[in-house]
Amino acid sequence: MTQLLEVRDLAYCYDRDQVIFEHVSFAVNPGEVLTLLGPNGAGKSTLLNCLDALIEPTCGDVLIDGEPIGQMSPRALASKVAYVPQTISVTYGYSVREYLVMGAAPRLGMFSAPSKEDYEKVDAVIDQLDLAHLSDRAVNRLSGGERQRVAIARAIVQSPKIILFDEPTSALDYGNQIRVMRTIKSLAEQNYAVVMTTHNPDQPILLGGKVGMLDRDGSMVVGEAETALTSDKLSNLYQTDLHLVYVDKADRIACVSSRL
Ligand code: ADP
Ligand code: MG
Repeated sequence: MTQLLEVRDLAYCYDRDQVIFEHVSFAVNPGEVLTLLGPNGAGKSTLLNCLDALIEPTCGDVLIDGEPIGQMSPRALASKVAYVPQTISVTYGYSVREYLVMGAAPRLGMFSAPSKEDYEKVDAVIDQLDLAHLSDRAVNRLSGGERQRVAIARAIVQSPKIILFDEPTSALDYGNQIRVMRTIKSLAEQNYAVVMTTHNPDQPILLGGKVGMLDRDGSMVVGEAETALTSDKLSNLYQTDLHLVYVDKADRIACVSSRL
């Protein structure tokens, strides 16, 4: 069976004597979430960048629908993969709606104006993500949480099959973190394939699906979140005592640290 996103024996080195990761293999199919966990500097962003051909891996292959991404045109790649960066910075005072219409760009020729369908698509996504009250506001005047929802909306407008998120919650307060997690879960339920990086081990527990634990030594263990995550593995990964405990009130497993 051809996998939607398949990574085979991937390795990356910025310098010849510094391996960021090696022997990384996994597949992500429609409706699946893969959460990449790892300490700061482990190489999560580097790995994510390889999945959108922003950088070229040192070894190995990234295939989308069986095709190596290095051989795809930028437009073909944009129709398959959207990348939600940690923070969006918008220099000009574009409104949310204008900014989202520009996200339809991969399908536009250099000189063609957005079509009625592009605006309809944008307005549908604005509704879907509850952004109607913000649609005329300037993107560069939004709060962090609002910006993150606009960044997600822009990825959806691109009509990809795969959405990549680099630490989508790292700049957000707790309520907004949970709301973004809920949005990501609902994207998987709508059959997008999602790959997300985080350093919060609670997030793969909340999302379920697959988890990849990228260690500082460049190795990555991939498995089902429910079985692959253990207190020992997480303690090793983060070099601190962590415990997976069942919390009655929340009716779920949570990751907590020892007392300070
Ligand atoms: P993470 O996202 O897990 O925090 P990164 O992928 O950003 O980690 O970085 C992994 C390692 O690669 C770090 O040690 C970082 O310093 C290094 N690194 C990141 N970008 C570059 C670069 N452009 N040139 C050289 N080293 C880099
Ligand atoms: Mg990073």
